[in-house]
Amino acid sequence: MSGDLVENLRRVEVRIARACAEAGRDPRSVRLLPVSKTHPVEAMLRVSDQGYHLFGENRVQEMQAKSDRLRELGRTDIGFSVIGHLQVNKARVVARLASEFQALDSARLAHELDRRCLAEGRRLDVLVQVNTSGEASKSGVAPEEAPALASELRHCEALRVRGLMTVALNASDPAPVAACFDRLVDVQRRLRDADIPGLSWDDLSMGMTGDLELAISRGATCVRVGRAIFGERPLQGAE
Ligand SMILES: *Cc1c(COP(=O)(O)O)cnc(C)c1O
Repeated sequence: MSGDLVENLRRVEVRIARACAEAGRDPRSVRLLPVSKTHPVEAMLRVSDQGYHLFGENRVQEMQAKSDRLRELGRTDIGFSVIGHLQVNKARVVARLASEFQALDSARLAHELDRRCLAEGRRLDVLVQVNTSGEASKSGVAPEEAPALASELRHCEALRVRGLMTVALNASDPAPVAACFDRLVDVQRRLRDADIPGLSWDDLSMGMTGDLELAISRGATCVRVGRAIFGERPLQGAE
């Protein structure tokens, strides 16, 4: 069903290495987050054998099922990064099971995640998702709203704010896609200038199967790759 995962993974690693070489960047400055949504735990295990221990998921229920299964297998070394929009009433599951959350898009959600993490005695790495394409279908705060959300995050003790995430426009013309990535870098610059104590904006999660080279050329430090590793998804999991 999903081809040779190890070979797919190698090919993605080569794409990342080449993009870094072309951009004059250290390949260690870009982390690969395998996005396992819709794919079974068995596929995750094969990828984890290659040294990957954090997996991107966009649905809380699916993460919970996979987490239960992994626990049964004694695989507590495997963690989750939630990359999809989260309803406030599901914050508890993320606080309990995820080690990273890349789709923070409201102060209300931040405070709820913080409260739940404190109750669980856990800390959570978070990235603020920015809607850089302006499409109504995409989650994330508008670029101009990011500073206000950032300033709320000062009060969230259990959240470790690491940076920003975006999903660029899905287009074959690279120019408008690059413009999305550049917008995220621009937001990063503004947030760094605001210099809010305790918050870091170093992580830029941008780039997926179709646009990871472009994202790396624009400064991505994390690329989230699903299809190129695990194969095509059934339609409902596309986003
Ligand atoms: C599904 C998904 C990805 C991975 O996309 P691919 O095109 O399969 O690489 C990356 N980021 C987010 C937010 C996603 O939902």
